[in-house]
Amino acid sequence: MKSFEVIAFDADDTLWHSEDGFHANEQLFVEVLSPFAAAGVDVKAALTAVEHKNLAVFGYGVKAFGLSAIEAAITISEGRVTAEVIGRLVEAVRAQLGEAVRLLPNVADVLERVGRVYRLVLITKGDLIHQTHKVETSGLAHHFSDVEILLEKNSDTYDRLFRKLGVAVERVCMVGNSVRSDILPVISLGGTGVHVPYPLLWELEHIDPLEYDPEHFTQLASIAELPAWLAI
Ligand SMILES: [Mg+2]
Repeated sequence: MKSFEVIAFDADDTLWHSEDGFHANEQLFVEVLSPFAAAGVDVKAALTAVEHKNLAVFGYGVKAFGLSAIEAAITISEGRVTAEVIGRLVEAVRAQLGEAVRLLPNVADVLERVGRVYRLVLITKGDLIHQTHKVETSGLAHHFSDVEILLEKNSDTYDRLFRKLGVAVERVCMVGNSVRSDILPVISLGGTGVHVPYPLLWELEHIDPLEYDPEHFTQLASIAELPAWLAI
């Protein structure tokens, strides 16, 4: 059994599906905006650029996506986008916010097994209302001693959080789908990261592949492999 005190989990695309919903709404955006775009304009890339520009002000999550989509629709169409199209985008955002949580395979069983041995903490980022709603309706909340919703996941916010939780980062193992948000900041503090990729990754989470110290970094094909990796 590995000698961690806390196993911390990311939520979106680690415990439940998330990015596929954004992906579907990006596809919708491209479909409804393309007729308004000038020839040669990459509609999807234009949307991502607006999201990137707005990140520090709007934060993460579905509502931030929706605002950026409306701004990008106006810009791409040079003001010609119709109220009907804007209405469809808003309705798609509302549907995404109201969608029931869809757990990834084996998640409930893995949390049950790992939670018998370690303290479990949930660390997510994004919109407070939406993330809280997802945690509360996921049926998973009882596995976690603490649920933390951060504005941003970087070494500063993790450091502050682990101090608050009263755990030394050397005794933390963070499990997540994003190397940029879930793994690198924790490793940089001296903790351990377990990367469990999800088939889709948001453009703004992409980083170039790096070499890691295998003692502090591992990649598993599925969360189902976690108990064996922890040797429990
Ligand atoms: Mg995630």
